Amino acid sequence: MGKEYDQTNIFRKIIDKSIPAEVIIEDEQCIAFKDINPKAETHVLIIPKVGCIDFADFVNNQTDVSYFFQFITKVVETLGLSDYRLVMNKGSGAGQCVFHFHVHLLAGNLSNIF
Ligand code: AMP
Repeated sequence: MGKEYDQTNIFRKIIDKSIPAEVIIEDEQCIAFKDINPKAETHVLIIPKVGCIDFADFVNNQTDVSYFFQFITKVVETLGLSDYRLVMNKGSGAGQCVFHFHVHLLAGNLSNIF
């Protein structure tokens, strides 16, 4: 059995508005907000609102996976980006610190990472 979703994680608090975030766009299913510690000129985190621990949990247990990826394209459009990078860290060994599934959207000065 895998680990359980932690209802008190920091991204759940952002979804619930119990802590602030610089929101780019949001709808009933997804939210995009600026990373608090940006690694590039543009660094936005995009998350589904449903509780999923990581990429595998999201892809294997949610039916509306494509909606989430289409939402990412809306964020990209809102920010007016043409070139960008999407990153998903799955598991602490890969650098995942927050165990609510998220995609990093990065653009601008990317040469020094990955
Ligand atoms: P990861 O290492 O893939 O789990 O990414 C977690 C990301 O969440 C890091 O890039 C952090 O800078 C970011 N982060 C942590 N807390 C907050 C917060 N309160 N608001 C925005 N971003 C956050």
